[in-house]
Amino acid sequence: MSDFSMYHALGQGSPNPNGPQRKNEPNKFRPPVAASPGGYQQAGSAAVGHTPNQYIGTPNPNTPPIQEQGYFPPQPPPAKQNESGMNNITSQMGAVGLGVDPAGQQRPHKKKDRHAYHNIEGPGGSSQAFNGMPQSGTATQFLNQNTPQLGSGQWASPQVTPAMSQFPAAAPMYSPANPASNMQHAARQGTPLGGSPASTSQGRVDPEHIPSIPKSRDAPAKYYLEHVYPTMEHHLPPPALVPFVAYDQGNSSPKFARLTLNNIPASADALASTCLPLGLVLQPLAPLQEGEQPIPVLDFGETGPPRCRRCRAYINPFMTFRSGGNKFVCNMCTFPNDVPPEYFAPTDPSGVRVDRMQRPELTLGTVDFMVPKEYWSKEPVGLRWLFVIDVTAEGINRGFLDGFCEGIINALYGDEKDKSQDEGASQRKLPPGSKVGVITYDKEIHFYNISPGLDQAQMMVMPDIEDPFVPLSEGLFVDPEESKAVITSLLTQLPHMFSEVKNPEPSLLPVLSSAVSALTATGGKVICSLAALPTWGPGRLFLRDDGNLHNTDAEKKLLTTEHPGYRKVATKMVESGIGIDFFMAAPSGGYLDIATIGHVSAMTGGEVYYYPNFHSPRDTLKLSNEIKHTVSRETGYQALMKVRCSNGLQVSAYHGNFYHHTFGADLEFGVVDADKAIGVMFSYDGKLDPKLDAHFQSALLYTTASGQRRVRCSNIVASVSEGAAEAMKFVDQDAVVSIIAKEAAARVTEKPIKEIRGALTEKTVDILAGYRKNFTGNNPPGQLVLPENLKEFSMYILGLLKSRAFKGGKEPTDRRVHDVRMIKSMGPLEMSLYLYPRIISIHNLDEKDGFPNENGHLNMPDGVRASFSKVEEGGAYLVDNGQVCILWLHSQVSPNLLEDLFGEGHTSLKQLDAFVSSLPVLETHLNAQVRNIIQYMQTNRGSKSLTLQLARQGLDGAEYEFARLLYEDRNNEAQSYVDWLVHVHRHIQLELAGQRKKEDSDSLSSTASTFVGLRTPYWG
Ligand SMILES: [Zn+2]
Repeated sequence: MSDFSMYHALGQGSPNPNGPQRKNEPNKFRPPVAASPGGYQQAGSAAVGHTPNQYIGTPNPNTPPIQEQGYFPPQPPPAKQNESGMNNITSQMGAVGLGVDPAGQQRPHKKKDRHAYHNIEGPGGSSQAFNGMPQSGTATQFLNQNTPQLGSGQWASPQVTPAMSQFPAAAPMYSPANPASNMQHAARQGTPLGGSPASTSQGRVDPEHIPSIPKSRDAPAKYYLEHVYPTMEHHLPPPALVPFVAYDQGNSSPKFARLTLNNIPASADALASTCLPLGLVLQPLAPLQEGEQPIPVLDFGETGPPRCRRCRAYINPFMTFRSGGNKFVCNMCTFPNDVPPEYFAPTDPSGVRVDRMQRPELTLGTVDFMVPKEYWSKEPVGLRWLFVIDVTAEGINRGFLDGFCEGIINALYGDEKDKSQDEGASQRKLPPGSKVGVITYDKEIHFYNISPGLDQAQMMVMPDIEDPFVPLSEGLFVDPEESKAVITSLLTQLPHMFSEVKNPEPSLLPVLSSAVSALTATGGKVICSLAALPTWGPGRLFLRDDGNLHNTDAEKKLLTTEHPGYRKVATKMVESGIGIDFFMAAPSGGYLDIATIGHVSAMTGGEVYYYPNFHSPRDTLKLSNEIKHTVSRETGYQALMKVRCSNGLQVSAYHGNFYHHTFGADLEFGVVDADKAIGVMFSYDGKLDPKLDAHFQSALLYTTASGQRRVRCSNIVASVSEGAAEAMKFVDQDAVVSIIAKEAAARVTEKPIKEIRGALTEKTVDILAGYRKNFTGNNPPGQLVLPENLKEFSMYILGLLKSRAFKGGKEPTDRRVHDVRMIKSMGPLEMSLYLYPRIISIHNLDEKDGFPNENGHLNMPDGVRASFSKVEEGGAYLVDNGQVCILWLHSQVSPNLLEDLFGEGHTSLKQLDAFVSSLPVLETHLNAQVRNIIQYMQTNRGSKSLTLQLARQGLDGAEYEFARLLYEDRNNEAQSYVDWLVHVHRHIQLELAGQRKKEDSDSLSSTASTFVGLRTPYWG
């Protein structure tokens, strides 16, 4: 123990393990988490343009000071954790699951039902009393124990040592002396296999009784306001859209990693009976929310973190120690390694290292390791941000250049609102050590010396775009704080400076090459604007999509690029540890060839922000917020990723936006940020041992924005069982949908969209028919029965079929390819919203909606189904799919509502400003409610900023988008939800009768597949 300190020089927030007497402070309301400045906002979403954490007009005078509140306090006060709350949620979550109850119906809460539900349902389990601890302690057990390194007592018991028992659930937790209650058992179980009938026994589908996505979100959302998610005890993560506080017990939080199956069949044949993919969705830098512990940064000095000698897996909570602590056995490959002397600690009689509770790497599923020089490819430095700004005529004329420059200033220095808050104090927006540079371009490239000593920036023009070089070695990258005056003045003047020049044609490829030259030595991140098709100079592009190639073989060529120049610059960027985000505006709705240009972002781990029909009064706020978000979210660069898994399984495919040299090599990212996720598919190379668990570890080697080289390690465990019946109880619907969507997106360059739609339909039928064939018993043969954990699955797939990426009918290829690439890189939360929007009706809000309750949680109204049949006359609705948020107003909407929302004098739809992008700040109750609701939605969203787009019935073009997003209706050349279920049901019956013909099976099975996880005849 004397060498303790050399291992635990934690990079940040390092607690003194012997110091604080945390154990004796049971009633402290929140864990020792550094409160994020925004309180309710988290670091990853600082781009929000709202005043952080200020709920307006809180009606309850007893509410604690609002600066102190978040929506998700880590710990509910004891009074709230009572049984009725539990029962309520359990019954809500469970109601749809019972075979006796019409699916989709929220069952009224009846006391007599309580116990029945507890015994049956899985997701209900509570964080309380799981370990037979006294009630008084349970309410606060997650307060301080969330930091096992503090040496807190409750988690020190060997019962929760993950390596000692099979996952799910630590079986010895309930000893004969300490029997489990029914509720505890319920909490440990998956959902039952019974399934939910979605139709009558005659096969009719009742639209009111089909599974409702809004309900599947609202009930767990309420539950997780009052409960944490303990990652080892519960094995069905909350739905991806639901905010929750995870308590890391050794298995990674679902925010970082979601497995499609949390119980894995032992053999490929058993898995095949489910037709489900075995996959993992990884979002390695996912943002945390208030109440969650920051990821610890562990420094093992020159030796680096201990790793398995055979398979190179990193030390983790599931490695076991033997021979008195002299050996550690790898949980991936079972190799017994020698424990290096500097890492030695003895084990106790039960085989647990005595220092385990002081070692985050042995107790937490997700940690960061600092790594020594051998992990460097170049000296890590603070992140270089290079802003590359299009200054051609179109961008100037349309206000895009203005908006972009203003957005950068806000991102670097905060906007007016922030300034008044900071009281003039300079608050760094970028981590110390990071630097910024500015380049502009039209037909030429302009470099700027922005050294702090200068009165103003010095421009250097590079006219030779055939062979550009970087004409200055000093002053291109500077500390943004030191050069604040120079940078601000330059960005303020740029629009004016170039308004005289007005070159119409940007020359993009040469400036990208220049950016590579400027960043080769260090790596970095490029943020590039583009306001017109780059038609000048080397790499000029032309109008490829004339709108006439729809539904032809040539169409899929438009969705990819073969341009050698752009492919080459993408590869060079990745090699040098550079990634790029594009901000692309098509001011007149014109073609930008996103397929070609966005390829560079997709290969380098970047992102494209796309503003079709950019209109500056409406879109500048969104543009500005999104620049701010891209600069402030957690960003790493020069990244490599490796996913390891237990013997018996192997990685069969990766889906996402990255560079992959050859299969088997590490994934490479120029940059990686908090919003990016990838899908990993696994196949069997043997049989798994049902007596052991299956383990997965993702390791992301990256350089932080502040210049530290680290490995972000996430560990995931699943139990194994012989057959697949157990697996069906632990299916993670969001992970399944994400994996299927990502794979479908990956197919777009290979197959016509129509075939992919057919394959998605077939996959849906396969999964549901497989379930019907193999896992249900007593239902009438004509009844459509849906697996409990996949009740909303078919609706999500229908949403995917109707998305811009896959919808039928004409869709500009720019928009299609943009959405396809987004699907490949988005995390499960953003995916969920994208596949089924959140709709809130604001004309009939309860008085308390949109305000914090006595616990500081915002009362969110329930969501509305995405169907016009649910739209009320005179209604007003927010429709948010994570990309746009539409405020739809019925033509008969009340004048009072309009005045309350928009201010005096706004009594008719025609009086509203069609280009309003946010609500004015008014003193009315409704106005405050809606602004609070919008703020909640913004923090629970993804990479895009939430600004409003008005859709007044009969007046605005955005009504088309509103109609498009009503995914339960017949639209986008696809069926209604009811018709879709009927269609799927018919094919399931054909399958059961042995009469099913695969749609388009000829064309789809033509190519051999390496995609084992989804291999079916039609995936081809
Ligand atoms: Zn190993």
